[in-house]
Amino acid sequence: MKIDIKSMNLEEQTAYLSTLGEPAFRARQIFIWLQGGAVSFHEMTNLPKALRTKLAECCWITKPEIVRRQVSKLDGTIKYLWRLSDGNCIETVLMRYHHGNTVCISSQVGCRMGCAFCASTLGGKVRDLTPAEMIDQVLFTQMDSGLSVSNIVLMGIGEPLDNFDTVIRFLELVNHPDGLHIGMRHISLSTCGLTEEIDKLAALRLQLTLSVSLHAPDDETRSRIMPINRAVGVERLFEACRRYFDCTGRRISYEYAMIDGVNDADWQADLLARRLRGTPGHINLIPLNEVKESPLKPSHRVAAFQKRLEEQGVTVTVRRKLGGDIDASCGQLRRKEMQRF
Ligand code: SF4
Repeated sequence: MKIDIKSMNLEEQTAYLSTLGEPAFRARQIFIWLQGGAVSFHEMTNLPKALRTKLAECCWITKPEIVRRQVSKLDGTIKYLWRLSDGNCIETVLMRYHHGNTVCISSQVGCRMGCAFCASTLGGKVRDLTPAEMIDQVLFTQMDSGLSVSNIVLMGIGEPLDNFDTVIRFLELVNHPDGLHIGMRHISLSTCGLTEEIDKLAALRLQLTLSVSLHAPDDETRSRIMPINRAVGVERLFEACRRYFDCTGRRISYEYAMIDGVNDADWQADLLARRLRGTPGHINLIPLNEVKESPLKPSHRVAAFQKRLEEQGVTVTVRRKLGGDIDASCGQLRRKEMQRF
């Protein structure tokens, strides 16, 4: 088994290099190459040839292949379907905003959370991604598009907190001054509400934005569309969010996909406003992307729901729909590829 050296942090690479009798500065040189997107040790021209040969014998460097690349004619959004070294496919989306380019990355191959509105979960979870496979999504999107990425959202295929240690390692790598050096305040992590992991994340006091996929303020509705809610009710979720805020001082963003006749009633806006009282946070209303296999349809009450929340003092934004002419909804492209076989 060759070593996945790109998933290592600088300390681990230094320790590994010392087992080969190499000084610490060599590890830093390799780290810079890897986090800069090098795909072979032979490119690393500032290393002695013998070391490059040794590394090529013992280690490997991840390199995803592009299976499909869809570019929106409407807004320039680019959606990638990558093939990983074991043949599995994942998606990454590059979105172009006025404030900079944002990349939405996957954290797992598939997802086991079962949300009713999400195509990523239809085949279940296949496996967790590695730190290198997460970093590659940013690196190779930049290299292919020629655009530099300033913001990252962990909102693609998978539940990031279900792959906790890898995600924390990814954050360390992507934030490193010798790597992509993307600041924590430019990173958002989305969770369907794993409360124990929210507490673990809070304890790390990272300055990222935690985004909670809420989608309903009452247990009956939320349990219907998000199975995780049957284990952790809305009340316990909000308690964890309050603890997160108390610990980090970071305002939470609540994602709310507007679904026709399911979560868009006035009483649900009122309950949501009550739930948010006393916890700084804001609601991000999302026009639902239709999934062919799902009976859930987009709501036409987005503006009315927003107004009702705002009247009760809640900060609300409505997410601009990007990539409407491509399969922009998470998991759709991968699903199409899977159905070909
Ligand atoms: S919305 Fe997120 S957590 Fe829910 S099934 Fe999809 S990828 Fe998983």
